[in-house]
Amino acid sequence: MADPRKPAEKKRMRFTARLLRYAGIAPTAPLYERGRALVLYIMGILSLAVFAPVGISVIAAGSYLDGTVLLLAIAFLWLSLVLLRGGVGMRRAAMLAAASISVAMMYAIFFGGYRGFGTLYLFLSPIIFFYLLDFRQGIGFSALFSLFIAAAMMLPGLPVRQNADAEYLLRILILYILLSSLTGAVVYVFAQSQKRLQKVAFYDDLTGLPNRYLLRDLISSMILKTDREGASFAVFFVSISRLRNINDNYGYETGDEVIREFALRLEHSLPAGGFCGRFGGTDFIAGYPLRTRIPPERYAEEIHGRILKPFEPGDLHIRLSANISFLEYPAVRRNLFGSDENGGSGSAEGSNWADAEWIMKNLEVALDSVNGSSSGQTVRYDEGGHRDVRKRYLLTEALRSALGRGEIDLHYQPIISAGDLSVTKLEVLARWNSYSFGSVSPTVFIPMAEEQGLIREISEQLFARAMGQLPRLLEANAGDLVLSLNLSPVTLHSRSFIPLFRELIELHGGGLGNARIELEITESLFIQNDETVLENLNQLVAMGITLALDDFGTGYSSLSYLQRFSVGTIKIDRSFITSLQREGSSMEIVRAVIAMAKSLGIDTVAEGVEYAEQFDLLKELGCDQIQGFHFARPMPFDRVVGWLEQWRVNPGALTQ
Ligand code: C2E
Ligand code: CA
Ligand code: CA
Repeated sequence: MADPRKPAEKKRMRFTARLLRYAGIAPTAPLYERGRALVLYIMGILSLAVFAPVGISVIAAGSYLDGTVLLLAIAFLWLSLVLLRGGVGMRRAAMLAAASISVAMMYAIFFGGYRGFGTLYLFLSPIIFFYLLDFRQGIGFSALFSLFIAAAMMLPGLPVRQNADAEYLLRILILYILLSSLTGAVVYVFAQSQKRLQKVAFYDDLTGLPNRYLLRDLISSMILKTDREGASFAVFFVSISRLRNINDNYGYETGDEVIREFALRLEHSLPAGGFCGRFGGTDFIAGYPLRTRIPPERYAEEIHGRILKPFEPGDLHIRLSANISFLEYPAVRRNLFGSDENGGSGSAEGSNWADAEWIMKNLEVALDSVNGSSSGQTVRYDEGGHRDVRKRYLLTEALRSALGRGEIDLHYQPIISAGDLSVTKLEVLARWNSYSFGSVSPTVFIPMAEEQGLIREISEQLFARAMGQLPRLLEANAGDLVLSLNLSPVTLHSRSFIPLFRELIELHGGGLGNARIELEITESLFIQNDETVLENLNQLVAMGITLALDDFGTGYSSLSYLQRFSVGTIKIDRSFITSLQREGSSMEIVRAVIAMAKSLGIDTVAEGVEYAEQFDLLKELGCDQIQGFHFARPMPFDRVVGWLEQWRVNPGALTQ
């Protein structure tokens, strides 16, 4: 567990940290924070240095009440400044400060006979108002105070009138208004420019939450704090799934509203001492110290629960889910400091920043492993995952360039009629032969492409190529064929999908002949109940395209979908076929599925049939079609053409 920070550097860090802490300032706080803290600190010191001796001397002079009230007012002001630093929130601290000033002022005017300190306090008030509230409120408060003083001075019978003449009071009033506007304006400009800087640079426009830069600061402060205290904290990366579709379907305004609402829910879910922010797009980051004793897994569940509650912008009813990755610091410390990717060799702050960046980057990449494939998942980032995460990251980068380089290709796998062994369908399967990684399984790169927004382009290329090759395939199979294309759910969420698909078919329509197109979809599509998806599906069916339900039995397997969407084929998942045995539970399930499909007039395909025994059993159960290595593996175009021609002459002879 080597910490590369040099000892001298660490010592310096500890010293400045202690110094700043005495001043009530977090040493890793960003510059604007430190600036603001310093201003408040100086104001506090000044108020103590100036008013405390005055109060004490007033007491010494015999006016016990005057002195005590003054000291109390100072204590109030001081307390509110300290509280402000401690993070009670601007408004509450402002109210406290205003209350303390008002008390002192009222006392000064009504009972103190307008002594000097009362006037001084009056000058302090606009500073506070302008600084803590906004300009209009500052003006409003100052004006109100002026009126109040004027009224107080005009009221007959008050002690004020007895102690000072009208001309003196008028002079004071004018001076007060002049000075308060002046100081107010200066403080306002100063505070505004600071606020603007801070807003633009550190807060997200849409949600008002910290952006990724402030998040980096917040995480690095956490690192510093936990290092010092020997404590630990957890950081979460929350990625909302499918929000892109909301933008596509309902417009960006709705998408924005959903994001804002989620930001609120996330903020309200935070345990004590926690923070959260928007990392970008649909990604959020949250964190909290583990001394709260809330296990990270439970907090992740809490977030899942909050996002699952429907969003209701306007009269819509939107259901969302998220994937979450998290890590515990310093449990991942070895990774952090032992890793050569951590460029933190500069100042202590720089090093913490690099560590914070590292945490955010790796949590994001760790999520890629679940994003796209399914939602509602939580992954813990641990040391073992580090290499995988790194590889995934590189793989994602490679996938981006793969399309342009033509590394993505397709294979065809024949699907065979169980009755006469004729080839009924060809399933199109994507293949990626990567220049750097060799052949990569579609179970790895398809979810990745979905996540990276590349799936549409891939599907387009593959569909176009398959359509182009269809006439030759049709000819090889004696003029009759169904081309089965796997359709990623992500594609169906887009409104532009149908026109594009229609175009592709029309472009190659001449060669379609007797061939039909079948789209393989998964049940997850129905569960989401997305209107665009349902509309797209209906349009596809209207175009004469048939639907096959892929991986049947692994999902929800609700019968109602089958009828509602005129599904023509069920593909029984390979897991049932693999464990198929006479008198086993799989046997009963497969038997039931086939019987049900028959009664609904739906075709059945058994996936992953590898052995003759499985084929025999399936035939016995009445399964219509067979797909699997037993008859044929997925093959490139050239090979499948030859295979089809041979099979036609002698079906079954090529069985493996
Ligand atoms: P899938 O749609 O269930 O495709 C069937 C998978 O089973 C294919 O894996 C196929 O090679 C494999 N298979 C077929 N017969 C046998 C067998 O007898 N034994 C065994 N062990 N496996 C068999 P592949 O090509 O690796 O594809 C995996 C998954 O990737 C597919 O599962 C599909 O979900 C996805 N995929 C592949 N190509 C595409 C594509 O072009 N678009 C989309 N959206 N998804 C694709
Ligand atoms: Ca499939
Ligand atoms: Ca399948």
